[in-house]
Amino acid sequence: MISRLIIAATACLAVTACGQEKTPSPVEPGVTIVIHGGAGALAPGRYTPEEEAEYKAKLTEALDAGYAILENGGAALDAIEAAIVIMEDSPLFNAGKGAVFTREGRNELDSSIMDGASLNVGAAAGVTTVKNPIKLARAIMEQSNHVMFARDGAETFAQRQGLELVEPDYFYTEGRWNAYRRALESEREKSGAASSEFKFGTVGAVALDAGGNLAAGTSTGGITLKRYGRVGDSPIIGAGTFADNKSCAVSATGQGEYFIRLTIARDICAQVEYGGKSLTDAADDVINHRLTGLGGEGGVIVLGPDGVYAMVFNTAGMFRGVKNGEITEVAIYGE
Ligand code: ASP
Repeated sequence: MISRLIIAATACLAVTACGQEKTPSPVEPGVTIVIHGGAGALAPGRYTPEEEAEYKAKLTEALDAGYAILENGGAALDAIEAAIVIMEDSPLFNAGKGAVFTREGRNELDSSIMDGASLNVGAAAGVTTVKNPIKLARAIMEQSNHVMFARDGAETFAQRQGLELVEPDYFYTEGRWNAYRRALESEREKSGAASSEFKFGTVGAVALDAGGNLAAGTSTGGITLKRYGRVGDSPIIGAGTFADNKSCAVSATGQGEYFIRLTIARDICAQVEYGGKSLTDAADDVINHRLTGLGGEGGVIVLGPDGVYAMVFNTAGMFRGVKNGEITEVAIYGE
């Protein structure tokens, strides 16, 4: 298993230059946004230079949109929503348009959001007609007395909130459909689970705003060939998403079943809050020891109230990026 630990602070200028075991130095509080676009079997050579450029351009667009909000004094919640909407609307990622297919050949989307200032949360599971599930999670957080809606009820709530609805085939892309067909085929041949080749692309963002507030959000189509009604970690607060101004903000990607079992996002922040660990040590422990020990794969982006961030994954790569007052960096592989 490949172990990756990419850590940095606002003082660390290049994501790829921040080596393993480096301890982030204390930094001045600074507005920051960190995003991911899924972790998985992303080794160099997986994409052509043109495809890599396309992914990096979209990650940069998402970072820029989120950061522009932060720079103008906007809220972390608005920044992460803006960044995630751009990735949901892009067919490149497994969220919104371009989501992976279930075993029955459908697209069923999950999302969640958390406000680190109030600990308010919103989450949606298994929606098929909501164009931007992250907006639905936010509406559930702000406009309902509940924290999570699923399937038909979530769609009804989205409609009543006036969110944009689309026909289910809006989410179709030829690339994901071909991956679905190949996954079915390979499962038939090997009588085993579909390879991780078919799994990545979940999107997420964490941000720190000028008011010192953290927020986190995650959106996904889940896992190729997932069974009817399967819900992963992305809409589960504490598993795929968590934010608390007192500790950190986390968005996760990977095999959701493991992330739920280990309450990955909450565990990282709990180790920071109660254990006094640095967020990089906490993320390293949870991903490279606990998750790896259980046989799970994936990664997290983590951001603290001081602007220190970490991007940790035990897969070959993770689409990721960070923007603050000093840097804009995007990367795919585990360099
Ligand atoms: N965590 C997502 C899920 O299990 C999938 C992923 O992040 O790739 O639904």
